Amino acid sequence: MTGDKAPDYAKAARAVEPVVVYPEAALPLPDLALYGAARARAVKTGEVLVAPREAACLPVRAGQFLRISCPEGPQVGDLNLWNLADLSERFYSGKTRALHGTHLDVGDRMWSSFPQLRPLATMVADTLAWYGVDAFGGRVHDVIGTRCDPYTHHLLTGGEYHHCCHSNLTRALAEWTGKPVSEVESAVHDVLNVFMCTGFTADTGQYFMKASPVRTGDYIELFAEIDLLAGLSACPGGDCGQGHSSDEALCYPLLCEVFALPPAALEGWESPQPSGYSGSHGA
Ligand SMILES: [Zn+2]
Repeated sequence: MTGDKAPDYAKAARAVEPVVVYPEAALPLPDLALYGAARARAVKTGEVLVAPREAACLPVRAGQFLRISCPEGPQVGDLNLWNLADLSERFYSGKTRALHGTHLDVGDRMWSSFPQLRPLATMVADTLAWYGVDAFGGRVHDVIGTRCDPYTHHLLTGGEYHHCCHSNLTRALAEWTGKPVSEVESAVHDVLNVFMCTGFTADTGQYFMKASPVRTGDYIELFAEIDLLAGLSACPGGDCGQGHSSDEALCYPLLCEVFALPPAALEGWESPQPSGYSGSHGA
């Protein structure tokens, strides 16, 4: 594709410096000091243990904190977020990636789909923050990958596997809503890959994964900006060091804990409103 047919301006074109599309300084920044002070006063109000190769849904109210941890061993989680009152508003992985980068850090937001486009949650703690970027370009907590799913598995192998994250999330949402899987499947969406270590290969630009550095006791915490329904799948890939979409990897549960606090502790914070764009699209 390159080489002989490159035009005479190829060198100059490649030498042009890139510009960041969405400088983070232009975004409304979260008040992490306020969240931190609130978190210090929050008390645990509930927990859900997600079994290996399964998923579960749980509500997290605006102003509450959701901690996702590995209680027994290294395990990657695939996280979906919906507006609790309107499942059509859901986490928008692609726009979140465009705004914050391929992997999420403390202070980054999980943004919702159009037409609302608002922060659903803010990452406020991460015990894997030390990992940074490794020599392969690997980082943790990606918004690149979509979720393991039975369709891609069938495409590649011709086989049937029912415990991919997509199927786990679909079953969990069906159970939560009391609707058949056929009705809720389309609400399952691209995920935040919690604890997963991923990147793109330097030579071919292909999506790669490697064993997550997560250990027992590690966690992330998310602050719920609106009333949320969270869906979390304990990926059949375990630490995703080898493969997924099978029962071969060693898998562990994931623990979801919710922490709440008195409303006064969040003075100065308001749940974000949907986008103020008129929606006319010039029509
Ligand atoms: Zn998975």
